[in-house]
Parts: sequence; C-alpha cells; structure tokens
Amino acid sequence: MTESQPQLHNNTVSYTRGKTLGGSSALNEMPYQRRTVGSYHAWADAVGDERWNFTNLLPFFEKSVKYTAPNARIRAASAFVPSTSSDLSSTEGLLHVSFPNYAAPFSSSSEASFLDDAFARNELFPNLAVHIHTLGGKIIFNTNKTATGVLVKSNGFLHLLNATKEVIISAGAFQSPQLLTVSGIGPKAELEKHNITVIADRPSVGQNISEAKADLATFPADWLDFEYVVLSFNSSTYLASNITYGTLEPALIDPLSRGNISVSSPSIDDPPIINVGWLTNATNLETAVIAIKRAREFWASDVMKGILVGEEVLPGKNVSTDEQILEWARGHVRTVYHASCTCKMGKVEDEMAVTDSRARVIVVNNLRVVDASTFRCCRRDILRVLSMP
Ligand SMILES: Cc1cc2nc3c(=O)[nH]c(=O)nc-3n(C[C@H](O)[C@H](O)[C@H](O)COP(=O)(O)OP(=O)(O)OC[C@H]3O[C@@H](n4cnc5c(N)ncnc54)[C@H](O)[C@@H]3O)c2cc1C
Repeated sequence: MTESQPQLHNNTVSYTRGKTLGGSSALNEMPYQRRTVGSYHAWADAVGDERWNFTNLLPFFEKSVKYTAPNARIRAASAFVPSTSSDLSSTEGLLHVSFPNYAAPFSSSSEASFLDDAFARNELFPNLAVHIHTLGGKIIFNTNKTATGVLVKSNGFLHLLNATKEVIISAGAFQSPQLLTVSGIGPKAELEKHNITVIADRPSVGQNISEAKADLATFPADWLDFEYVVLSFNSSTYLASNITYGTLEPALIDPLSRGNISVSSPSIDDPPIINVGWLTNATNLETAVIAIKRAREFWASDVMKGILVGEEVLPGKNVSTDEQILEWARGHVRTVYHASCTCKMGKVEDEMAVTDSRARVIVVNNLRVVDASTFRCCRRDILRVLSMP
C-alpha cells in the first residue's frame, strides 16, 4: 500500500506486485507493448548511448519474440491486426506473442518464457540455481566499493551468496531502490537517518526526480500523451447496479508527476514507504482534463449513438466544468501497476542517475540493476473514466 496521498483525497493505493518467479509478469494483464521510435531516441540521448535508440533495440525485441499469427476466422472483422510483416515476424524467440480473439496483443510471463527455457536447456546453464522463498537482504561490498556478494534470508536462515564476477539485482521498481538503500547506496540523509553505512551518496535512488524539461512541447513528435483503454466494467463499488458497462479509460502514458520510494528501516523485511505522487504536475492535470473531455466527445459521436442505452454513468453529467472533472479524477485515478524509473539510468556525470547506460550502478563496482527501475521513461497510469451502460 502507498502512503495516504493528499492530492488524491487522501486515498491510499494498493500497488500489487508479483512476489513469485517471473515477478509481476506472472500476474499482469499480458498486453505486449513497445514504445514509439521517438521515445527510444529520447532515451538514447538522455543516457548518451545510441544502443538505446529504436533501430538498435529492434533486433533484441525481435530476438526475444516468438510470434503466432491470430486466427482471422474467429476475430471480428473490425478487430484488425496491424501489419506484422517486419516488427512482429520472429518465430524464434522465447516470449510468446499473439493476438487473442479480441483486439490486443498479449504475451507470456518471464518465467514461462525465459526461466523455463533455461531449465530445459540445462547444458547451456549448468550453474543456474534458483533459491525460492529467499529474500535478498543486503549487498556486500569490500573496501574498494566492489560488490562481492549478497546476504540472503531463506527459511529463516541467513546465507551469503558470493559473486565470482558481479552482482545483478532485479527486484523491481519498489524493491531494487530499497535493496540499494539498505545496502548503503542512496540519498546520504536517508542513509544516515537509518544508521546505514554510506557506500555511495546517490540522491536519486528511489527519488525519481522529475526531468527538468517537463513540457510536452519538448518531447518527440510521436510521443504519446495519453491513450484509451477500452474495457467492460462491472463494479458495485462505483455503480449502483451489477450490470456490465463499457468504459473508455484515458491513460497518461508518461506521467510527469513524480513519486518516490524511501525505506522505513534499515531492514529489507520492512516494506518501503511509497508515495506515488499522481496528479501533482500541472501539465498532467491539464492533460487529464483534456483526455476526459475527448472521451466524452467520442461517446457523443454519431458512430456511438446506435449502441448507447442510457446516459453517462461515470463521472456523470453533473461533473461538467474543468474543476469538477479534475476533482472527480483525483478521487478515481488508479494504476495499471507500471512503476518504473526509481533507479534511473543516465550519463555517468549526471548525479541524478543511478546506473550508467549498461545498467551498472555508478560509483561502485560489479553491481547492476536490470529491471523496470532503470527505465528512462515511465509507463501509464489510468484515470478510470466514462462508463456507459
Ligand atoms: C496487476 C498487474 C498488471 C500488469 N499489466 C501489464 C500488462 O498488461 N502489460 C505490461 O507490459 N505490463 C504490465 N504490468 C507491469 C509489468 O508486469 C511490470 O512492469 C514488470 O513485471 C516489471 O518487471 P521488473 O522485473 O521490473 O519487476 P517485477 O516483475 O516486479 O519483479 C521483481 C521480482 O523481484 C522479487 N523481489 C523483490 N524484492 C526481492 C528481494 N529483496 N529478494 C529477492 N527477490 C525480490 C519479486 O518477488 C519479483 O519476483 C502489470 C503489473 C501488474 C502488477
């Protein structure tokens, strides 16, 4: 759970994570998405490494995918599949990607794709050992600030796993910054507050400070400000009756509002303190209102008239001015669980970066973070908006 969020009517948010092999990919909704070409170019520029531009990443996307074409006989004619001739043609990878009988591409989990394959090809990975029910508690460093191992707790016992080459952590957007912090890499004031020995003062661990150029005009031309998620919706929490409604949910793709993660104690056993900070950036507030108004225009179009059977249910016609829409959004914003950027990648000289462009933690040696926490671009959070019966 997050802390209570003052700007969201003091609500707390349940931020689900997958605590299992495959992590959150074991329980996610399975849509398969890549970002726009311009977004990756912006990423490459920000970290000063052209390996992150779309052209250079595409072979890796391709390599990882095993694409199965959809069954055109079953899918509705209007649920057309975008051209897949180049970007989604690979059938050699481990991540299964296809289109179901409704219109969204979906993929398999990390465990089903990669870990199971590694087990199946035992001869290629003779040293692979998986310790389940084991919590990484602290990264151990020698006097040269070189990571030499990880202290883990398994079934109540502490073990030291020694690294022969390097330590690679992948605990996700909440626990990777927590693990770095309890190991001595984080904002100095926070480390000292919890009596943690400072290995490296990295002010942006878990802090995710907003980019300086937080203005849509500075983003690439193909940057997506928001998208709409089309779902059926059935909830007695929001709605009087138990019938199923159609929803068009505007999702802010790259929220400029920033939150932060900090530790509540020097122990990994205690949950981190999470502040999502949604709807705190002025540009985001404006975008949210525009997105909701545009959704209304969609429902009001001639095309939709034939299928509507009643008036708008949420937010409802009494919510009409920009101020009312915003207030309503503050009480109804939710997440699709794409937390990221809490150990953000950047140029070595950028004191707000946590890792370099190859995911190596800056200032220390032999330590990498390889998960969504190092992303440069955030991923969407959703305003559940506009339900129509
Ligand atoms: C409900 C839900 C729906 C989603 N839907 C989609 C979707 O449709 N499409 C999409 O692209 N994305 C979706 N996502 C987001 C996506 O799943 C995540 O962005 C992605 O899994 C992040 O990967 P990660 O490796 O950074 O972290 P995670 O997948 O969270 O993996 C972190 C792993 O580290 C483990 N761990 C944490 N701390 C420790 C520790 N101290 N010691 C040992 N292990 C530790 C955790 O148990 C977990 O297994 C969804 C997520 C959720 C929760």
